[in-house]
Amino acid sequence: MSGARDLAYLCRELKHPSLLAGVGRLAERARADAWSHEDFLAACLEREVSARQSHGGEARVRAARFPARKALEDFDFEHQHSVRKDIVAHLGALDFIEAKSNAVFLGPPGTGKTHLSIALGIRACLAGHRVAFATAAQWVDRLGAAHDAGRLQDELRRLGRVPLVIIDEVGYIPFQGEAANLFFQLVSSRYERASVIMSSNKAFSRWGEVFGDDTVAAAMIDRLVHHAEVINLKGDSYRLKGRDLGKVPGDGDT
Ligand code: ADP
Ligand code: MG
Repeated sequence: MSGARDLAYLCRELKHPSLLAGVGRLAERARADAWSHEDFLAACLEREVSARQSHGGEARVRAARFPARKALEDFDFEHQHSVRKDIVAHLGALDFIEAKSNAVFLGPPGTGKTHLSIALGIRACLAGHRVAFATAAQWVDRLGAAHDAGRLQDELRRLGRVPLVIIDEVGYIPFQGEAANLFFQLVSSRYERASVIMSSNKAFSRWGEVFGDDTVAAAMIDRLVHHAEVINLKGDSYRLKGRDLGKVPGDGDT
């Protein structure tokens, strides 16, 4: 075998690009540390496997359609006193996904609800879970389209195989007509089967207004919080931090 050239060809054929990139350095280490042939082969394969896994992670991050990239490490718990770091860290360990339980973030605009939702979602992607992110209004549009095409149950079943669905911005726009019912079906289809992260600027006591129906809202909250971490965020908007804009109207409802 004429070494390097064959390797380049073989790695290309097998679609092992990162193996090719790393094999030179691994071979040097193997010679320096007198690795066995088996150790060297294992190190090569390990490199390719971890590259593939992280590629898979990035592919899942793209597929999840997050509106931005956020990390738990970048969340300033000094600024946001109302959130307990240990509770968020516990969520970040992702046991809640295995347990098919939920997380709910409640609080006024700019308090970090979307940040925490995305950060947990990205973690889940990198840990191997599929995730789907959208605002409540986008979920309703999507489910409405499926309903009109007679595919609502198929769509809910398909979503049921996604271990984490994130529903952002519940409450900014009140649901009209069928929307509340579609939304209820999304939440109830996942109850004890797969996880939801939901964010809202409205306290539960005002979800009746959001859904235009107290009974539907109560039934949904019941399913949502039965197995859930509910986190109430307080304080001023992080977006307005350090800016003197006079008094910004608060929702006064969370
Ligand atoms: P919400 O969804 O509650 O309206 P966001 O999560 O979108 O708020 O936060 C608004 C902006 O402020 C984002 O860019 C977010 O990354 C940032 N942010 C909010 N809270 C914090 C925090 N405690 N530490 C770091 N960044 C924060
Ligand atoms: Mg938000």
